[in-house]
Amino acid sequence: MATAEKVLDETVLSTPPNDLQFETLALHAGTIPDPATGAMLTPIYQTTTYRQQAVGQDKGFTYSRSSNPTVSALERRLAALEGAEFCSCYSTGLAATTALCLALLRAGDRVVVSQAVYGGTVRLLRQILGPFGVEAEFIDTGDGEAFEKALQKPTRFVFIETPANPTLKLTDLDLAVRLCRKAETPLVVDNTLLTPALQKPLLSGAAVVLHSTTKFIEGHNATVGGALITSDPELHERFAFVRNAIGAIQSPFPAWLTLQGVKTLSLRMERHSANALRVARFLEDHRQVERVLYPDLESFPQYELGQRQQAAGGALIAFEVKGGVEAGISLMNAVRLCALAENLGAAETIITHPASMTHADVPEPQRAAAGITDGLVRLSVGLEDPVDIIRDLDRALAQVR
Ligand code: PLP
Repeated sequence: MATAEKVLDETVLSTPPNDLQFETLALHAGTIPDPATGAMLTPIYQTTTYRQQAVGQDKGFTYSRSSNPTVSALERRLAALEGAEFCSCYSTGLAATTALCLALLRAGDRVVVSQAVYGGTVRLLRQILGPFGVEAEFIDTGDGEAFEKALQKPTRFVFIETPANPTLKLTDLDLAVRLCRKAETPLVVDNTLLTPALQKPLLSGAAVVLHSTTKFIEGHNATVGGALITSDPELHERFAFVRNAIGAIQSPFPAWLTLQGVKTLSLRMERHSANALRVARFLEDHRQVERVLYPDLESFPQYELGQRQQAAGGALIAFEVKGGVEAGISLMNAVRLCALAENLGAAETIITHPASMTHADVPEPQRAAAGITDGLVRLSVGLEDPVDIIRDLDRALAQVR
């Protein structure tokens, strides 16, 4: 009888991932051809339980809180795309962050975190793990000196987001790897904003990559999900143990949708970036716009670093409208094609007010230190024709008082 491992061995994964290009892996890696029918798409294994042949004998799966064949296929594919050995998928991105923290942290531990990160990450560390005795120090990881200084105290792990949500502040990955190696502490990179299509932190030497697959990986505003990817077997074991213990695994249907969405990741990231650059240039030239942050604009403060470390600018733009908070809010209420919503990374363009939406739970002083001003507008540029996005913004800007 074929074991689950054997079934996987018979797939394209028997070819070492290094032999296949990224776009090919996005389509084929991790596929489990249905042994019964030959169906090309990995089926949705909508089952809780797996019948066992005898006590202690199974086909690699026992109970879907521990693992599920559809979820395993997605894990194989995401690991291959990041150039890694292992991946575990979770019900949401924050479930992945929770599993990471529970696997690595104990009371009394300290972590060093980028000052500008997704607001939910800050809330988890401060409001949930803080009372359990975990100390999170938020620093500007884009500042090499401050970064090195922070690592002089014992640090259980370092968590960075580059570019950061929502300010797009970059952290130098090579420098982060060097500093973490010196301090003998693992580097965790939230790679949600660029995805492995534009940046592969594990290949630069990071220990773990985290994803909210809710965003570009699935890409169609259809699912929530998360992933932890690593080539360290011990770390992977710990993540899988915690995931089973707390019951945070991805469900098979969202995993299946993500397997379909990720097939076009490379094409989408290329188009997101091209569209975003056109929109960023339009905003930069607009007399009602105070400042625009986008890594591929020559005016971006860390332009050189961005050109060196990421394959393109990505979908996210941060900008401020002249007239401050009132003007920003007035713009966000006036757009029609761009959706005012709390997400990013979808095919549709989304406009967000971080201070009142995604980063509302970040204490005001930390928001200010990270550059998340009350007037900051975040735009996740979608796959529409950029002409239509620009027209919508232009019309909305004309209505701003
Ligand atoms: N990481 C980043 C960069 C995010 O933007 C988000 C959500 O917006 C998360 C993690 C959390 O992911 P989820 O919403 O899937 O829990």
